[in-house]
Amino acid sequence: MYGTEVRKTFRQVPFAQVAIEDSFWTPRLVAHKNVTLQTCLFELALKGTIANFSRAGKIIEGTFFEGYFFDDSDLYKVIEGAAYSLMTSPDPLLETRIDRIIDLIVAAQEDDGYLMTYFTLEAPDQKWTEMGKHEMYCGGHLMEAAVAYKQATGKRKLLDVAIKLADHYDATFGPGKRYWVEGHEEIELALVKLYRETGEKRYRDLAKWLLEERGSGHGADESWYNPDQEFCQGNIPIREMEKAVGHAVRAMYLYAAMTDVTSCGHDPEGYADVLDRVWDNTVNKRMYVTGGVGSSRDNEGFTEDYDLPNDTAYCETCASIGLVLWSHRMNLLHGDASYADVMERAMFNSALAGVSLDGFRFFYVNPLASKGGHARSTWHGCACCPSNIARFIPSIGNYTYATGERSAVVNIYQQGSAKLKLGNGQSVRIVQRTEYPWEGRSKLTIYPAGDAADGSAFALLLRKPDWCGQATLLVNGYPVENITMEKGYMVVDRVWRDGDTVTVDLAMPVERVYAHPKVKANEGKVAIRRGPIVYCVEGVDFRQPLDELVLDRDTVLAGEKRDDLLGGVVVVSGGAADAGEGGFRAVPYYAWGNRELGGSMAVWINEVRPDRGIEAG
Ligand SMILES: [Zn+2]
Repeated sequence: MYGTEVRKTFRQVPFAQVAIEDSFWTPRLVAHKNVTLQTCLFELALKGTIANFSRAGKIIEGTFFEGYFFDDSDLYKVIEGAAYSLMTSPDPLLETRIDRIIDLIVAAQEDDGYLMTYFTLEAPDQKWTEMGKHEMYCGGHLMEAAVAYKQATGKRKLLDVAIKLADHYDATFGPGKRYWVEGHEEIELALVKLYRETGEKRYRDLAKWLLEERGSGHGADESWYNPDQEFCQGNIPIREMEKAVGHAVRAMYLYAAMTDVTSCGHDPEGYADVLDRVWDNTVNKRMYVTGGVGSSRDNEGFTEDYDLPNDTAYCETCASIGLVLWSHRMNLLHGDASYADVMERAMFNSALAGVSLDGFRFFYVNPLASKGGHARSTWHGCACCPSNIARFIPSIGNYTYATGERSAVVNIYQQGSAKLKLGNGQSVRIVQRTEYPWEGRSKLTIYPAGDAADGSAFALLLRKPDWCGQATLLVNGYPVENITMEKGYMVVDRVWRDGDTVTVDLAMPVERVYAHPKVKANEGKVAIRRGPIVYCVEGVDFRQPLDELVLDRDTVLAGEKRDDLLGGVVVVSGGAADAGEGGFRAVPYYAWGNRELGGSMAVWINEVRPDRGIEAG
């Protein structure tokens, strides 16, 4: 009875079905295509990552390896991003460049299917000896890239590499074969993706086995990242997990994979409760207001409940993207808007902060406060974050819509159009006009397929975000009284005819947000939010140091659209921020560090004057 999607409440609407013509996202997509992708391909060539494949494939001479041992994965992630870009924005030149790189990957794959250039070149006798050496992590990213490139171009050369690699894993590891506990999760969700593309159940079963091996005691080896440690979520069996632990990117990929396996209907009873527990712990006790996760630099990950320091916050860009991946899967699994609330929070804030507005510079670490000196770089020695941005931005349309059996679901308000196919086979086109996230008003026009005279009955589900206190709905201009709510969605269930309109208006006042009292770092402080956007203050806007800034409780704050600032944003301003120190201005957190490299910044602002005596103590 295993289908590919049996447990899901909602189905994904792939971004290729979603045309984005949105004043917020379109400039990011243009910067991605013209700058980020080009930067990534240039840097990977410069760093020698591409040449590693040429040497491993004996296309050029030499057996030395350049870079970090896991750098293959960066190239795979950029290919995945290029594939996504090609799906919505065809580009023969880019496709030719990627085809040539794929030829190098084909050459680098060994006869038995093994693929990882570090081991082929530098340590062929050390394969599969250290579980912390990212062999399957790299393989997982290859599989994701291969599925994406096949879907984008119809070409299956890279997919055949992925299948050969997955078959190699399947022949080597599993029940009655060798043990393996991969030190960095990723392979598990990738195998599910490969299963969905090929229908080959062995890949799904291998993903499940790899998940079940965690915490079995089979991970102990001599590697510096021992998979039996909490750092790799390998200290206990995954069914016993209560909290989000360890390295945050690893954790997010693990939880995403568990959600995938659950939604495949494989082990229908086991993981859902675990995921709910860990979700609750993550978003209520271990997540920043920006959607950042992983508060500590020491383990690049989770520590204790409510331990959320601001200036030392790690909040790796990859972890925020990982949280988007996980929350999206949870939304589809449960059909509940609260998961999309978290998805939106990470998308519009912590993940988006990972790349500059021009698409050229990247944050690895996303603190919520800086006294200065923290700036986006054009590249990173460990390039996991730029390459993750390269695949995240072009797939942003994945998160806009979903479908149920007889429902069309709007998760993210975004201007453009989409073709949706409901579970029962009905089709509908939705055209959306909005200035979201700057305005809370969106007008949707509905075009059901088929006989327009008879109309088409289905439910339109519109997410009422967690930040929104008051929402109104108009259908064909008439107000809807007593809006029906279902799992965080406003439901309009009716017979639709071509050109019917729904106007949703989400009240979007400037809000003061307070942290849980157990978060010591935010005592006496306030954060500012308007709609899904979290704000920060930047040193460039103030004469005094930001930690001397006080935003009085009675200061009236207002949003103002400024098209001349940061690519067009709503700034939040108010009266005197501190007696005699001029006006107050806050800008969106995602856009910080674009006017001044390495300037100071703070999300949490003093609302009461800090007690100097206590501070000195
Ligand atoms: Zn990263």
